Amino acid sequence: MTNPTSSSKVILISGASSGIGEATARHLAAAGHRVVLGARRLERIAAIAGEIRQAGGEALHHELDVARLGSFRAFVLLAKAHYGRIDVLVNNAGVAPLAMMDELRVCDWNHMIDVNLRGVLHGIAAVLPVMKEQGAGHIVNVASTSAHRIVPTMAVYSATKVAVRALSEGLRQESKDLRVTVVSPGMTRTELAGTISDPKAKATISAMMDEQGIPASAIAEAIAYAIGQPGNVDVGEVIVRPTAQG
Ligand code: NDP
Repeated sequence: MTNPTSSSKVILISGASSGIGEATARHLAAAGHRVVLGARRLERIAAIAGEIRQAGGEALHHELDVARLGSFRAFVLLAKAHYGRIDVLVNNAGVAPLAMMDELRVCDWNHMIDVNLRGVLHGIAAVLPVMKEQGAGHIVNVASTSAHRIVPTMAVYSATKVAVRALSEGLRQESKDLRVTVVSPGMTRTELAGTISDPKAKATISAMMDEQGIPASAIAEAIAYAIGQPGNVDVGEVIVRPTAQG
């Protein structure tokens, strides 16, 4: 494990309690960056941050509900107060309660909009003033291959991820001193299927994940690649999916 150096970045990660967020926190900390883990399951992020520190890395954790702007602001404030700056925000938190639209699971639709879309916007709103003041920063938004290929049961989930791609491109064009990256994973083995309430969709997605899902570390490496580029190099979008995925 590398010790943090003056070149190590302060990196905030939403949804760091499992899957891609957890793998990203561990990967970036092992590379010497200072990571701040946010999620609702406090015990989980406390344990992961503790393990990172035990291995010689630097990590903080703070409860975060991305659906609430105030919660995101408190998360950002903690990191800024502790480290004095914020170099990167990885907007990773997401849910995927997939189902056919005619099931009218309107609560699930709203939940996806609240976490996958509003959550990303809240992250941007919380961190943008800090990055503007610094004159530099990097926002990495985790979208999905579902933003590129729309299939049954994924209509609303895809809509949130298409929106994340659109707002990322708009933000990039508006900001000359901000790097904006979209990382779009394909089927990745994580806990995401646990957020599906429709039993049929859950069984299908769980089977696909087991069959062809790639490890979360593959996405963490793509995020690390984008972060690791020089300040004048902005990686716009990286799509990482199983070779066998259609
Ligand atoms: P996981 O379910 O393993 O992780 C999701 C994370 O999001 C958890 O840490 C969870 O933490 C967090 N989260 C959910 N709701 C909130 C909330 N309101 N506030 C804060 N954190 C929240 O799934 P993945 O790792 O797969 O998901 C990460 C991202 O990757 C998501 O944006 C997902 O859409 C995207 N993705 C995943 C793919 C896959 O195949 N796995 C494919 C394409 C995209 P907690 O519950 O503790 O709050």
